[in-house]
Amino acid sequence: MGSAGRLGGALALVTGGASGIGRAVCARLARDGARVAVAVADRDEVGAGDTARGLRGHPPTPPPHAAFGVDVASAPSVTQLLARVQEHFGAPPSILVGCAGITRDEFLLRLQEAPFREVLGVNLTGTFLVTQAVAQALVAAGAPGGSIIHVGSVVGKVGNLGQANYAAAKAGVEGLTRSCAKELARFGIRCNVVLPGFIVTPMTAKVPPKVLEKFAGMVPLGRLGDPQDVADVCAFLASEDSSYITGASVEVTGGLFM
Ligand code: NAP
Repeated sequence: MGSAGRLGGALALVTGGASGIGRAVCARLARDGARVAVAVADRDEVGAGDTARGLRGHPPTPPPHAAFGVDVASAPSVTQLLARVQEHFGAPPSILVGCAGITRDEFLLRLQEAPFREVLGVNLTGTFLVTQAVAQALVAAGAPGGSIIHVGSVVGKVGNLGQANYAAAKAGVEGLTRSCAKELARFGIRCNVVLPGFIVTPMTAKVPPKVLEKFAGMVPLGRLGDPQDVADVCAFLASEDSSYITGASVEVTGGLFM
């Protein structure tokens, strides 16, 4: 089957969907025929609406997408998100792409407990909360299966200067992914994690240009990544083209740190 329409009307929930990688994932899944529930940080409902309106589906009209605000680090907020999505679409999402994430970089010797906990709260606890809520909803609905995709980071494998909090959270996401894959396989739910390298987004805009240039020079494929590079892999993992893949970590790094 060609890529157009290969998601055949499946409902996808994408967190962090108003920006960077999440925004590209929304566009790619919509292009592949999914209906997309775009979940963004509460404070960015406007961005979410713009993203949902900008998506092109198959067929393009009427727009099958909708936007919702959430704080993924808050259990009540995530519960409310799933309730709103199910009320709007009449079913739980069978595809989840967890892109919500933050950095609060500081060297270990100066890193305070608060930014450590904040980064774990969004990147790791947030991924757990949304994953659990989606899995519970799918199992309760007796759905035939699903595909959960976490966005980790290659930094979770190799560590990074100034990112002890972020690396710990992303390493945790990998362990979470593999445990979910083992527990949810009997429900036909697959769970995989993509590990981007350095991708040009608002998140990496905070990294000093000198550091980015250094990393770009280390990438065997000779360039930093584009959000589309990650979105393409998420679309593959969301689709039946990856139906025998679960518990996998897929690096999207241009070969960096291989
Ligand atoms: P981004 O443009 O900053 O996107 C992150 C998104 O997460 C934003 O839309 C942000 O909303 C949202 N978010 C933050 N806190 C949230 C919360 N508590 N609840 C709900 N949403 C929240 O960064 P990105 O580069 O696309 O990152 C997407 C994912 O890829 C992240 O998990 C990141 O760790 C991962 N990643 C990125 C790279 C890279 O090089 N860019 C590399 C490896 C992994 P606001 O903008 O409103 O705060």
